[in-house]
Amino acid sequence: MSAVTSTRIVLASRPDGEPTTDNFRTETIELPELSDGQVLLRTVYLSLDPYMRGRMSAAESYADPVEVGDVMVGATVSQVLESRSPQVAAGSYVLAYSGWQTRAVVDDNTVRVLDPSAAPLSTALGVLGMPGFTAYSGLLKIGRPQPGETVVVAAASGPVGSAVGQIAKIYGARAVGIAGGPDKCAFVQGELGFDAAIDHRAPDFAEQLRAAVPDGIDVYFENVGGSVTAAVLPLLNLYARIPVCGLVSQYNAATAPEGPDRLPGFMGLVLTKSLTVRGFIQSEFVREMYEDFERDASRWIAEGRLKYREDVVHGLDNAPPAFLGMLRGKNFGKLVVRVGPEE
Ligand code: NDP
Repeated sequence: MSAVTSTRIVLASRPDGEPTTDNFRTETIELPELSDGQVLLRTVYLSLDPYMRGRMSAAESYADPVEVGDVMVGATVSQVLESRSPQVAAGSYVLAYSGWQTRAVVDDNTVRVLDPSAAPLSTALGVLGMPGFTAYSGLLKIGRPQPGETVVVAAASGPVGSAVGQIAKIYGARAVGIAGGPDKCAFVQGELGFDAAIDHRAPDFAEQLRAAVPDGIDVYFENVGGSVTAAVLPLLNLYARIPVCGLVSQYNAATAPEGPDRLPGFMGLVLTKSLTVRGFIQSEFVREMYEDFERDASRWIAEGRLKYREDVVHGLDNAPPAFLGMLRGKNFGKLVVRVGPEE
């Protein structure tokens, strides 16, 4: 029998600043035979997430970088083609961390079996997966929105931001979203039900934001950094909470931003407004909150209170350009690559 092969996208070189498609290379490899406790996977959906930009860099972070020549990491929904595991049956669908490739051999304890009848399979990578949990845990554990308070979040049409605003509403707060462009803003306010949505590319963005938060900001869920954060800071209320989840506007920066040093002003604000600024990586809260998240998020989706949008790109070849586009705001909803058919 001829060997099973996998087409995969590896990191060809580390980017300096904004990555390009030249930083990736496609290759085909032969996969090893299965050992006991292993499964052969066929990728159906590959998740593309902003954190992958960090993995392309050798800079110190909370997780090891991808080595040059190694396959790009990433969560997938995959189908089990062959199994030597008593826990994972051939034919079943699993959530895996098998990366940017068409097939993979992995240990059974690295996958989680999914129920395709419970929810669309791709939601395991978005609203019912890591991004949804990031929103849930960061907002409820650190942001702690109270009824009547104002919660502001950017990247508001994406999987994290869209869930943050909707969960804030479920907890009785006002939700104000910030997004790039009129179409995303119309979706955030009209479809997701945020109280307001502001375009961060508008020339009068800071004034529009001020007008949208007449009672100030109690929770700023930080997803982007940069000019958005600069516009938010003067509007923060006493005792405001800032869960620092991501800084996507900075991920491609190769040098420090030009302009005055804003750190003294920021620290002064932390002091005089008694701010809570708390960074987090979602994995910190998994043990404590994941079960609650799955229960609550499934119920809210069924009740129509937690909506989501997916941006599905077809074919593994299109993963690099789609990923680069996401870092510039080209995606509209949770970005996933459909690598192969569901059945
Ligand atoms: P999205 O699908 O929302 O994609 C990123 C979005 O960021 C873009 O669509 C764009 O939206 C926005 N963006 C990009 N560049 C800029 C910029 N210069 N200024 C303002 N906005 C910009 O991503 P996710 O929902 O998956 O992730 C959101 C954030 O959460 C990221 O920072 C990510 O790193 C972080 N994250 C953190 C986790 C943790 O454990 N701490 C876990 C998961 C995600 P727009 O066009 O609307 O501006």
